[in-house]
Amino acid sequence: MTPRDARYPFLAAARAAVTEAGVDLAELVATDEPAVDRGRERVERALLAGRVDSETPDQWRVEDELLSYPIARILVSLLDSPAAVEKYAAAEAKTAIERLQDDLENAGDELRSTPSAGIDRETLITELGLEGSIRPEREGATTTGDATAGDEPAWFHVGVGTYLELASGARGDGWRLVNRELSDGAVRVEREELFRLLRTAIRRRVAEGLPFDGLNEDEGIAAELEAELTDLRRLLSERTRVGEIDFVARELFPPCIENLLQKAEDGIELEGFEQFTLMAFLTGIGMDADEIVAFCAASSLEPEGIRYQTEYLKADRGTQYPPPSCETLSAYGICHNEDDHWKVAGHPLEYYQQQLETADDVVDWREQAADD
Ligand code: SF4
Repeated sequence: MTPRDARYPFLAAARAAVTEAGVDLAELVATDEPAVDRGRERVERALLAGRVDSETPDQWRVEDELLSYPIARILVSLLDSPAAVEKYAAAEAKTAIERLQDDLENAGDELRSTPSAGIDRETLITELGLEGSIRPEREGATTTGDATAGDEPAWFHVGVGTYLELASGARGDGWRLVNRELSDGAVRVEREELFRLLRTAIRRRVAEGLPFDGLNEDEGIAAELEAELTDLRRLLSERTRVGEIDFVARELFPPCIENLLQKAEDGIELEGFEQFTLMAFLTGIGMDADEIVAFCAASSLEPEGIRYQTEYLKADRGTQYPPPSCETLSAYGICHNEDDHWKVAGHPLEYYQQQLETADDVVDWREQAADD
C-alpha cells in the first residue's frame, strides 16, 4: 500500500493493493480498526462538507486512509439513500481532482522526493479508461491563450463522444457543443475545463456498483457498523418542522449562528462543519448564493466556496440539507445553549422562526441592502 493508493483509492492499483494485502474487511470492522473511524469520517465529510479528506490527516496511517475507502462504500450503501450515494461520489471526485491539481503543481519538487504519493494526468486518464479520447494540444498550435503553467499544457482536445458524455450535466451555455471549438472530431477545452470533465469521470467511477446489493443490516459487517450508521443517519435525518422561512434578520439569529458569523468576520477560517452549519442556516432561511456572498462579503468566507456549498446543499430532488440540530451543534462544541435556548427550540431554524414570529418592526436585510 503506497501513499498514492491512499490518495487515489478508486484506482485499479489501489484496489489491487487492498486485495494483495489480503485484508479481511469484516475482521477489520469487528476489531474496530482506525480505518473504520476514518471511513465514518469520510462519509460524514462527504455529506456535510462535500469533500472526503480528513480534518486530522496526521492521525491516520496510509493503510487506515486506503482501507477507509471500502469501509466508506459499505457505510454509504447501508444508508439506503440515493442522494447520499450521489453526494458521496461527488465528494470523492472533488477531493481527487484537488489532489491531482496539487500533484501537477508540485510535480517538480515534492513528488521527486516522494515519488509514490502523486499521480500525473496521463496515468489518471488511462486509469479512467479515457486514453485516446483526451490529448494535450500541440505546443504552439495556437496564437492566443496557450501559455502553460509548469509543464502542463493550457489546452486539450477531447473526443466529441467523450466530451458529450462527461459534459452532459455541466451547467452553462458555454458547455453546449454548439458553442465549442470543434476540429477533427474533438472539442478544444481549457485545462480547468478538463479538470471538470475528469471530475465527472471520477464521480462515475466511484459511484459504480453503489449501493452494494445483499448487505443485511442485521448481520455480519453491517451489524458491526451499527454505531457508525446511527451517527450518519442522524446527520441525514435532521429535518425540522419549521415552515418555509424567507426573511433575513441578523439581529434575530440564534447565538450559535451569530458566533460563527462573527468568527468569519474576524477573519478566522471556519472549519468544515462550522461552514456547513452557517451555509445550511442561511440557505434554510431563504437566501440564495448571490445573497450569501453579499451578506458574508466582509468575512473569511470565499465567494467560490460559498457558491459551491450552497449548490451542494440542494439535493437533486429539491430537498435541502438543513443545518444540524441543537443537540448535534452542542456535540460539536458550536452551541453553548446560551440563554437556555434548548427550552425554546431544538433546532436553530425553529429558534429563528419563533424569534421572527414574536418580533416587531424588523426589516429584511435584503430590503436594507437594496436601499443602500
Ligand atoms: S440551543 Fe440551538 S439555536 Fe440555541 S445557540 Fe444552541 S444550537 Fe443555536
